[in-house]
Amino acid sequence: NWTKIEAVKVEINYENTDWKSIFNEVLQIFNYKAEQKGIKLEIEHSDKIPQLLFIDELRVRQTLLNLCGNAVKFTDKGFVKISSELISINKEKETVDLCVKIIDSGIGIAPENQALIFDAFIQQNGKNTRKYGGTGLGLTISKRLANIMNGEIEIESKVGEGSVFFFFFREVKYSDVIIKKEEDLIF
Ligand code: ADP
Repeated sequence: NWTKIEAVKVEINYENTDWKSIFNEVLQIFNYKAEQKGIKLEIEHSDKIPQLLFIDELRVRQTLLNLCGNAVKFTDKGFVKISSELISINKEKETVDLCVKIIDSGIGIAPENQALIFDAFIQQNGKNTRKYGGTGLGLTISKRLANIMNGEIEIESKVGEGSVFFFFFREVKYSDVIIKKEEDLIF
């Protein structure tokens, strides 16, 4: 007697997107929580990444919010750092490979759980649901979204020391157009 989860069709809408602005939003959302918990929340960008990337802003944001939300949730002291890095640039194809690392100094994940946590409804152990809440669905959805967008999510972690979630983007189209900041626009 089990419940079946229906497959849901996911629409991906690629649009030229200001890459950095996504991270500012993420920062704004978690700043307060991090401050409350007394942990440092940092964002670091490689300035080699083009400003405009052809991505689905909504899906990328959704995935980052899940990964950063987890990092803040499972870290009680130290820091959460989001680092967006350029892996390679293909000037002929006008594409970049990128990685966003979400690094935390939290509780960590045991090796035997590292693959499991991407399965639907799996959390690290029974106690976590009570202590930390959550559904065990976030990472499942995040990984699927990353895959649909030609990317991947990987993990490195040590119990008691922290975790790194790697959010890889492959062959993302970039644009050379530079958007002016809002305050520069004069009508
Ligand atoms: P939820 O957080 O809603 O339970 P997720 O799918 O996002 O669901 O995460 C599944 C489980 O993976 C979490 O319950 C937690 O046990 C573990 N986990 C995820 N991110 C981290 C992290 N940064 N540090 C430690 N454990 C984590």
